[in-house]
Amino acid sequence: MLVKMEILDVGEVIKEFEAMTKDAENVQRETLKKILEENGSAEYLQKLGLHGRTDPESFKACVPLVTHKDLEPYIQRIVDGPSAPILTGKPITNISLSSGTTQGKPKFVPFNDELMETTLQIFRTSYAFRNREFPIKNGKALQFIYSSKQSKTKGGLIAGTATTNVFRNSEFKKAMKAMQSQCCSPDEVIFAPDFHQSLYCHLLCGLIFREEVQFVSSTFAHSIVHAFRTFEQVWEELCADIREGVLTSRITFPSIRSAMAKILKPNPELADLIHRKCSGLSNWYGLIPELFPNVKYIYGIMTGSMEHYLKKLRHYAGDVPLLSADYGSSEGWIGANVNPKVPPESTTYAVLPNIGYFEFIPLKENAEEQVQDKVISMEPKPVGLTEVKIGEEYEVIVTSVAGLYRYRLGDVVKVMGFYNSTPELKFVCRRNLMLTVNIDKNTEKDLQLAVEEAGKLIAEEKLEVIDFSSHVDLWTDPGRYVIFWEISGEVSDQVLKECCNCLDRSFVDAGYVSSRKVKAIGPLELRVLRRGTFQKILDHYLGLGAAVSQFKTPRCVGRTNHRVLQILCENVAKSYSSTAF
Ligand code: AMP
Repeated sequence: MLVKMEILDVGEVIKEFEAMTKDAENVQRETLKKILEENGSAEYLQKLGLHGRTDPESFKACVPLVTHKDLEPYIQRIVDGPSAPILTGKPITNISLSSGTTQGKPKFVPFNDELMETTLQIFRTSYAFRNREFPIKNGKALQFIYSSKQSKTKGGLIAGTATTNVFRNSEFKKAMKAMQSQCCSPDEVIFAPDFHQSLYCHLLCGLIFREEVQFVSSTFAHSIVHAFRTFEQVWEELCADIREGVLTSRITFPSIRSAMAKILKPNPELADLIHRKCSGLSNWYGLIPELFPNVKYIYGIMTGSMEHYLKKLRHYAGDVPLLSADYGSSEGWIGANVNPKVPPESTTYAVLPNIGYFEFIPLKENAEEQVQDKVISMEPKPVGLTEVKIGEEYEVIVTSVAGLYRYRLGDVVKVMGFYNSTPELKFVCRRNLMLTVNIDKNTEKDLQLAVEEAGKLIAEEKLEVIDFSSHVDLWTDPGRYVIFWEISGEVSDQVLKECCNCLDRSFVDAGYVSSRKVKAIGPLELRVLRRGTFQKILDHYLGLGAAVSQFKTPRCVGRTNHRVLQILCENVAKSYSSTAF
């Protein structure tokens, strides 16, 4: 019997998005009303004195702005049980572990069916716009997705990373089917207990179904680059497996072996073809379209801390377009990429006005007030979704469908324009990720630009910065910036000295430059790491329960992040001190 497949009606999705964004202010009011009505009985809201009021004005007057730290006691009670309406009306069933790469340890955040539904809404929205420009056939997707371990909390809740909660949800598979985006790997590979084995099998499945693969994706671009770097190491082994139809002995989990045995059959022609194609490439340029001839695009979050990987990704992608995925967090989704033709460096995210209630703290205004009044911690004055101004930067405040009210996400965004009446945001940086010794302020974006500039010097030698991080060293007097680089090959001392000076000069923040000139900040130090150091950092986070799907290399490592700092410092091969000032 032929089963008719439910394919998503993309026209309908776009129509709904158009209507909603034309009326963003009202939709926000309605969304807040719905959230407050559904959760009015929650202990947290009860004691704030809203007394059933659901309008934005009363909400702002009664409910304080909070950070994760403020909510920790409530979340801990949810984690420990017994089940009760603490932050939400309906008790929370799942807990997400955020990646925690910025703070050094994962945070717990509530996850529920409503959050799952908003996740699917974001996926559907960007898919609809994407499919209009880059239609895909009913093939397969090579998705480098991985799950973390799921555990039970003391209170009996299921805990795992947010992506794991999504991938494990039965609605996820249905939605992927409707979006013609089914993963070519079996569940046993996605949910494998070991990341390295999972990655190897994702690559193998991709090769087996190479003609059918329509796009290559992962949650964050880092995982795609990591996957193809691994491919460079294991491609001959993959070919051998395909030739013989026998999986390498390095895959040890019986569940993965038996799932792979169902799809891996001896195919010497395919093995020869892949071998020929790989041997014919120059430095792996254009690897992705060579392996997957029908691939239409590469998809994953490519903005913010992922921008560093774009160069390598473009190298593997050749002329296949790179499309950035959406903007959100474990705490909730924010916006979708509805202009998929725009290159990742300029990607913006249109906020979906019905997936949460959003406020924005203007950064310029607050900074000016602080200087004039000399008040350090002023109560910030957030504005509403439709009140933001083009060209201004804001910190994002989220009120979610999963029990977070006026929650400071810690991200800085810039308003680039409006889609109907909803803003289109560009991700700028994490607010608390800052290199600072005294009056200087350099964000992760400034750091990335400096690394990009200095990286050009080694690109002339056909080498690249695989990954990078930084630390503010206050043990020395004066304090100074330390930048860590892992490089793809040997570079002469002369060139690395120039890179170090270039990094120092590339921080153009006035506070930094003036402090360097009067030696109130010491010479920047470039430390070159042994190959594999960032893999060790990734493994460290996996050991803490993080999932590769959500991994973001920590760009500014604070003193409290002992273990990561230790890994970095223990693996220094060479170091250089700047003579730029
Ligand atoms: P997690 O802590 O793992 O939930 O990651 C959420 C964080 O990842 C967000 O708060 C952002 O800092 C970052 N992020 C998520 N989506 C994007 C995006 N599209 N562009 C840049 N950064 C993003």
